[in-house]
Amino acid sequence: MAFRTDIEIARDARKKPIMEIGAALGIPAEHLLPYGHDKAKVSQSFIRSLADRPDGKLILVTAINPTPAGEGKTTTTVGLGDGLNRIGKKAVICIREASLGPNFGMKGGAAGGGMAQVVPMEEMNLHFTGDFHAITSAHNLLSALIDNHIYWGNTLGIDERRVMWRRVMDMNDRALRDIVVSLGGVSNGFPRQTGFDITVASEVMAILCLSKDLEDLQKRLGDIVVAYTRDKQPIYCRDLKADGAMTVLLKDAMQPNLVQTLENNPAFVHGGPFANIAHGCNSVIATQTALKLGDYVVTEAGFGADLGAEKFFDIKCRKAGLKPAAAVIVATVRAMKMNGGVAKADLGAENVEAVKKGCPNLGRHIGNVKGFGVPVVVAINHFFSDTEAEVQAVKDYVAGQGAEAILCQHWAKGSEGIEDLARKVVSLAESGAAHFAPLYPDDMPLFQKIETIAKRIYHADAVLADKAIRDQLKAWELAGYGHLPVCMAKTQYSFSTDPNLRGAPTGHSVPVREVRLSAGAGFVVVICGEIMTMPGLPKVPSAEVIRLNDQGFVEGLF
Ligand code: ADP
Ligand code: MG
Repeated sequence: MAFRTDIEIARDARKKPIMEIGAALGIPAEHLLPYGHDKAKVSQSFIRSLADRPDGKLILVTAINPTPAGEGKTTTTVGLGDGLNRIGKKAVICIREASLGPNFGMKGGAAGGGMAQVVPMEEMNLHFTGDFHAITSAHNLLSALIDNHIYWGNTLGIDERRVMWRRVMDMNDRALRDIVVSLGGVSNGFPRQTGFDITVASEVMAILCLSKDLEDLQKRLGDIVVAYTRDKQPIYCRDLKADGAMTVLLKDAMQPNLVQTLENNPAFVHGGPFANIAHGCNSVIATQTALKLGDYVVTEAGFGADLGAEKFFDIKCRKAGLKPAAAVIVATVRAMKMNGGVAKADLGAENVEAVKKGCPNLGRHIGNVKGFGVPVVVAINHFFSDTEAEVQAVKDYVAGQGAEAILCQHWAKGSEGIEDLARKVVSLAESGAAHFAPLYPDDMPLFQKIETIAKRIYHADAVLADKAIRDQLKAWELAGYGHLPVCMAKTQYSFSTDPNLRGAPTGHSVPVREVRLSAGAGFVVVICGEIMTMPGLPKVPSAEVIRLNDQGFVEGLF
């Protein structure tokens, strides 16, 4: 069967002027700052004026442990937003912006897929409204100020070997992972080793996504620990007086971007922190604005529920005071099979036994999410290769877990294919069954927070950490950071730290390799396994086929 590609579908979209989309949401024209005809930012003053309005209901879309291609969380988030609007609810979608770099490698787009996409998808996947460029600039301004401070005499006593703040760019460029700067003699400063990360890995990105307003943004920027002195005292961004200028660079980037779905429903696309060394969800300011404007807000957390939903609940919701009303766990027959031991190349063939074997992975995510006090429904994101028997196997299994699995065909049919899920979400959200609470209290010691996540969410027996790591956590507690949540960085493919250990493993342990303090963002990053903060490009990058066609349209992007 020949399908139209995502970009072909998106190109045929019947977009409405963005002012009309905003007007339907109740945003007056003078508070929409247009970027072309199909994108607009919402003014800070309008957002402030909403403070006293009641909040709509927040719906999280998360997933089982995925296949390498992703399970369709964004596609389902967009589809469900359209589905809710179709059944007469005022629903707003909140998703992340895309990193530009990975598009030229092999990654799929970040705007959903098939008939459930936000548009303009090319722009959203490329420069969009320039937010990531602003974040890149703000980050690198701080980098420049650090080396400049050292150059002009280093009165703060920065130890050049202990500068933690690197540089960023929005490109996959492995050549820049580890570099030496300030070469070339006396007038160029003091040579030292450093490197580049991709922009989405910047702490500035995480800060922008967790800040409630510009004032909060500047305070958090000031709190960033950029380096240490020889006697290991922290140097803050504030010490370099960088926070004011960085806030200036970020003032427009802090305003949520409004776009629309293929069905002309509103979507905020704003912020895009990594889902490993950061918390992996869209900005707090966009989510809160959407909650004031819509009766339902559908949002997505990155990776599987063990990482994405846990961080959404324990970092974003805890810090922003958000109270999710229901959660959708996206499952695909393919990913069930993969969790049941089938190799990627064999996912196309019917294999009911493998589906059944993979189901405990889904079962554990259902139990985990319910453990946060949030009612759950499973969305089976339908692929054409799925057979009826395979779908039935998932439904039967989920029914045995005290939840319901609903077949969704939004990718092929748009909102028409996801009405049943939309109705179920409404009934869950209206039932008042949600009693959200984070997994652990703020005042629990940091190591115990890690253990709580490892045992309750990953079902591991133990956390393994050297004395040096435990001492570091203790030192941060003494320095006043003990109340922070932890941000786990591990493989997305397994509940464990071994990407090949699929399904619902038990008896494993979680080795902690490294811990990092993101004092501005407000979490302690716990690294369990290899984490890449500057990706590379594959041997045959998709950049080789991306081009403009005769009509000036982008070809080759998805
Ligand atoms: P995630 O957000 O979980 O990473 P996405 O929603 O971005 O996943 O989808 C990943 C890719 O899979 C996209 O290219 C999308 O078009 C494709 N996709 C999603 N759902 C389906 C489906 N039901 N059938 C075919 N392709 C799909
Ligand atoms: Mg996604």
